[in-house]
Amino acid sequence: MSRSSRPRHPLDDTPVSAWESVIGLEVHAHLKTRTKMFCRCELEYGAAENTRTCPICLAHPGALPVVNARAIELTLALGLALGCELPARAVFARKNYFYPDLPKGYQISQYEEPLCGAGELAIPTAQGRERVGIVRAHLEEDAAKTVHAGGATGRSVGADYSLVDFNRGGTPLLEIVTEPDLRSAEEALRFLRLLRQTIVELGVSDAEMEKGTLRCDVNVSVRERGEEGYRPRWEIKNMNSFTFIGRAIEAALRQQIAAHEAGEDVGQSTYDYDPDTDTLTAHRSKEEADDYRYFPEPDLVPVEPPAKLVERLRAEQPELPGARIERYAAELGFERAGELVMTGNEANAVLLVAQGLDLDAAATVSMNQLAGRTLLSENARPLVEVVQAGNLTREALNAAFDASTERPISADEFLGQTAVSDEATLGPAVDAVLAANPQQVETYRGGKEGVLGFLVGQVMRETQGKADPAVVNRLLRERLSS
Ligand SMILES: [Zn+2]
Repeated sequence: MSRSSRPRHPLDDTPVSAWESVIGLEVHAHLKTRTKMFCRCELEYGAAENTRTCPICLAHPGALPVVNARAIELTLALGLALGCELPARAVFARKNYFYPDLPKGYQISQYEEPLCGAGELAIPTAQGRERVGIVRAHLEEDAAKTVHAGGATGRSVGADYSLVDFNRGGTPLLEIVTEPDLRSAEEALRFLRLLRQTIVELGVSDAEMEKGTLRCDVNVSVRERGEEGYRPRWEIKNMNSFTFIGRAIEAALRQQIAAHEAGEDVGQSTYDYDPDTDTLTAHRSKEEADDYRYFPEPDLVPVEPPAKLVERLRAEQPELPGARIERYAAELGFERAGELVMTGNEANAVLLVAQGLDLDAAATVSMNQLAGRTLLSENARPLVEVVQAGNLTREALNAAFDASTERPISADEFLGQTAVSDEATLGPAVDAVLAANPQQVETYRGGKEGVLGFLVGQVMRETQGKADPAVVNRLLRERLSS
């Protein structure tokens, strides 16, 4: 899929360099199913070690896997959201390798025939949609969890002993593989945040990095601008923090560019990122698919999603976050629209807009005074009346915002508490503040008008929050320019 013609985000090209970044992601999300991928063990984060196991997920001889139908549905739902081709037939395959957290000696995954084929996710920006190609999305089972005890690093090397918790073994894991279409750490993070929001809203996964239900492998290489094809890439494994993903990409780009410019060999390898030193160290040379000796899983028949199921899932698709950001951006701009959708404050704004508040004011209130709190739906109407009154004291407004998330309110409780806008009353307070802050007055008269906000704040304090800020603003400007 060629991406060369799409509009670029202006920041992607800074600093101007002879090198172009080539970044692709492999995103892994634990599916939000009740039970594991191939057995009936319940999934419970934080359950006591090795209490969610059975002969199937412990690979006892003769135990046979049974596919979790809900996991198939969730994978198809995400595939539809990403506009993926949905093949008529999908096949599970064995990926063979040994590790103590993999009791079967192979992982059941998908190889040549995944559930979801090529698609894309478009990131809405002021410069147009940044389209990121999806190679595929497939379903597999997660490995168990190994805990290395003793030693300084928490890794197997230097540990006194290692323990395995098989509760996680067999958790349904969705893997989404992108084209190497991302051109900066910033763009990779924009993509990842939008993909995560999409996954969460569809109910596919909780996708919480701190709990390990969302993990990411990052493939990074560089090439000279205009160069065709790709140079060897570094695969940075198991990243579980947005901050570290951004830093690891930057570190890989730095180290690779330095190596190429010094004429050193940049091999294809797996890397670990050390946040303490902000550097990458080679882990092992990268396995190729051939090394895993994939073959179709003989214990499972191919999955052929019924057309009716796909149609039902298509009909159930909600309006996706990317589409809502574009819709809101006409009024809010892309940055605020993205912030509103991604921070979880959107639901409050939707309630307020439904009661007649304009989107811009609703977004401001939701992302500031109501941030992180849930407006009781029956309070939307009285709160809109309070906000639109326009002449209430700051105290009254704050009291209304606080109460609206806690108990049923009526607008009348707050509408009587109007702000003082009488100039004769406010004049002395304004004069007192100006007299007490000669430094700021001088700064303002020197051309730095930003200091006005500070002076307004001082007058508000002087009047115990009862002054009308618009009148205070005007009085201050009049006196400062005379
Ligand atoms: Zn089990």
